[in-house]
Amino acid sequence: MNDKLSIPFGRPLIGDEDRRAVLQVLRGHILTHGANCAAFEREFAAMMRGGYCITTSSCMAALHLSALHIGLGPGDEAIVPAMTHVATAHAVEITGAKPVFVDCEPTTGNPDIAAIEAAVTDRTKAIFVVHFAGIPLNMTRLVKFAKKRDLPIVEDCALAVGARWDGQHVGLFGHTGCFSFYPVKHITTGEGGMLASQHADVAGEMARFRAFNVDRTHAERSIPGVYDVAGPGLNYRMSELQAALGRGQLAKIQEFLDQRAANFQKLKSGLGKVKGVRVLDATSQRAESAHYCAVVVLEGDLGERRDEVVLRLNERGVGTSVYYPHPVPRLHHYREKYGYKPEDFPNAAEISDRSVSLPVGPHLDGDDMAAIATAFADIAAELDGG
Ligand SMILES: *Cc1c(COP(=O)(O)O)cnc(C)c1O
Repeated sequence: MNDKLSIPFGRPLIGDEDRRAVLQVLRGHILTHGANCAAFEREFAAMMRGGYCITTSSCMAALHLSALHIGLGPGDEAIVPAMTHVATAHAVEITGAKPVFVDCEPTTGNPDIAAIEAAVTDRTKAIFVVHFAGIPLNMTRLVKFAKKRDLPIVEDCALAVGARWDGQHVGLFGHTGCFSFYPVKHITTGEGGMLASQHADVAGEMARFRAFNVDRTHAERSIPGVYDVAGPGLNYRMSELQAALGRGQLAKIQEFLDQRAANFQKLKSGLGKVKGVRVLDATSQRAESAHYCAVVVLEGDLGERRDEVVLRLNERGVGTSVYYPHPVPRLHHYREKYGYKPEDFPNAAEISDRSVSLPVGPHLDGDDMAAIATAFADIAAELDGG
C-alpha cells in the first residue's frame, strides 16, 4: 500500500514577495485609504480587461452593497439561485426583500435561465446569479432577458476570478459583480472582496456608500477632517495590508488559472474511467471556466453512499468539500420562513446530497490529480463490491 496522500482541498499560496508587500505597509503609516487599495482596484480592472473596481471587506459586503444600491426592500422580490453560497440569498434577505429561489442546471450547477424567466413577477426588482464553481453562466441570454424586463443583474463571482463568457470577464455583464478573497478562493487577502461594475457611475456611488457615504475622500478634502454626508452608508472598506497582499496574489493569477485548468482536465479525464460519475463543467465553447474545483456528482447507487466516499477519500489523505451542502432554501432560516418541499429544486438537491468537490488548486500538480483519480476509482470499486 502506498503512503497516505497529503492533498488539502484548499491552501493559500503566499509567497515571500506577498509577505514583503504586507511588511512594507506596516513600515509606513498609511493603513487604510491608501495607494494599495487604489492600485489593487486598477490592477483588478486591468486583469478583467475593463470595468471599474471597488475593494470591499468581503464578497458578502459587495453583495449587500449591491442589493442596497438597487434599492431592494420589503415588498420586493429578487431571483436567487438555490445552488449557491448562502451569502447570495442573505444579501437579499437582509434588506427585507424576498429571495425567490430557482433551480440549477444538472450539467453546470449554474442557475437555470428558463427557471429565472419563469420566476419573474411584477414584484421582481433584481436577478442575482452565481457562476457556479467558476463555470460562467450564459450571460448573453440572461442579459437579453433582463434588458427586456428592465431588471438589474448582480453576479456572484466569488468562485469565478478569471472566468469569461464570450471573452468578457464575468462581473461586467450586469449592474455589479462581486468577488471574494477568502483564503480558499482563487486569490486571497485573508478576508476581502471586490465589487466590479461596467458602469462608472455605479462604481463611484458604491465607493462612497462603502465608506459611510461621505461626500469626499481623504484626497479630495482641502481642509483635513472636513466632509459632508449625502445619505446613509456603511464601512465595508478593505485595509492597505489586505490590498498589498491582494496585489501580490493578483500578479500570479494567470499562473494560478493555468495550473487549475491543467489540473482540472487531468482529473476529469482520470475520473472518466469511473462508472456512474459526472463532473460538472462548461457546456459551451463560449465559456471559459475559472476551474474553482471539480464537482463530481455520484449517479446511481454510489450517490446513496456519498458520505462514505468522502470519508474514504479523507482517510487516504485526499481533502474534499461539498459545494454547497444544502440548496439555500433548505437551510433552517429559509426553510422555516418560506417553506420547502423535498421535491423542490431537484437538481440543486442532487448536487448537495450526491456530489463531492475535489481540489484542483495551484497548490497541487498533475501527479496529485492522478493520485486523486486512482483513489477515487479504488473507492468506487470497493463500494460497488460491498
Ligand atoms: C465564498 C462565497 C461567498 C462569500 O464570500 P466572502 O468573501 O467570504 O463573503 C459568496 N458567494 C459565493 C458563491 C461563495 O462561494
